[in-house]
Amino acid sequence: MGSLNTEVRCSATVSLKYCPGAKSLVEPQIITSYCPVCGAEVEFFEYELERKCPDCGRTVKREASPSCIMWCKSAAECLANLKALGAISPERAEELEKIMREKRSKE
Ligand SMILES: [Zn+2]
Repeated sequence: MGSLNTEVRCSATVSLKYCPGAKSLVEPQIITSYCPVCGAEVEFFEYELERKCPDCGRTVKREASPSCIMWCKSAAECLANLKALGAISPERAEELEKIMREKRSKE
């Protein structure tokens, strides 16, 4: 634990070793939903459950099966690995960590 293989560069492939759900974090699908207020199209990454409507600025919620980071016990470790490998950008890692923490703080 804790020692990363720094020789491995192909992060997307390697990340699958850690967790099959990691693929959706590395290459998230775009899911289109609609704003209930103005009907505008709102695009979500599959790990996002909330997003601001680009037209009216209201928060649009999406009902979805949660990403593995919300329930997986190894999520923190997995995110750290993906970040260290460069499979996800630091910004996205931060966003995912925030989602993970928020979810856990409610339980
Ligand atoms: Zn709207």
